[in-house]
Amino acid sequence: MANDLSPPTGEALERAPSQHLGPEYKSPDERPQATVSKSVTQANVHILPQTPQLIALLTMIRDKNTNRGDFIFYSNRINRLLVEEALNHLPVLPHTITTPLGRTYSGVKFEGKICGVSIMRAGEAMEQALRECCRSVRIGKILIQRDEETSKPRLFYDKLPEDISERWVLLLDPMLATGGSALMAVDVLRSKGVPEEHILFLNLIASPEGAANFAQKYPKLRIVTAFVDQGLDEKNYIVPGLGDFGDRFYTL
Ligand code: URA
Repeated sequence: MANDLSPPTGEALERAPSQHLGPEYKSPDERPQATVSKSVTQANVHILPQTPQLIALLTMIRDKNTNRGDFIFYSNRINRLLVEEALNHLPVLPHTITTPLGRTYSGVKFEGKICGVSIMRAGEAMEQALRECCRSVRIGKILIQRDEETSKPRLFYDKLPEDISERWVLLLDPMLATGGSALMAVDVLRSKGVPEEHILFLNLIASPEGAANFAQKYPKLRIVTAFVDQGLDEKNYIVPGLGDFGDRFYTL
């Protein structure tokens, strides 16, 4: 079925995997078990390595008792990891330089221009990490909200760099639930001439349903996520999730 945004299936809510964390040289007692990301079959989904550091950061932001200051700090840390990983997917060209010792070093340099596009308002929380990694990066905005009457996503506003069709786009939205808004944001980018394969969609937590919906409609777009959770509840919240990201980052 095209673009299926249907509610959770039994399969989507099956138990999440558990794994011993940390390097193999450590003894089993030093490698506690924790719930880790589900794996997915879609080749366009890249899940960050499930390291003790990442799982500790995610544990902080999932905890309902974490205060807003800590939520902002620790989600920023994960956003940095996501941006750093996404940059590894951008093309580079061979670039040889000379060191102060007069020796040559065969390296690489980034090819092409990039920009960020945040889906308001939660996606704006990921902009700082992008700015920290990419100096003077251009950032566009897209506002999509659910229409009260139709309960379908509706585009309210977009402001994007003029030359966006020539840029690699890092699309920012921390929670990939059904994917309805993010898919509409990609439609906007496509209508401005951005090739599907030049879009990287960064999120902290994805649902298996959202990942599947994206892979079905845009199989050449890359998703970079920190974690694929169990599934969606009846209100389309990600479970176990972290609640409403925008509320926890901006207002609670
Ligand atoms: N957006 C959120 O902030 N949280 C969810 O669980 C799903 C969408």
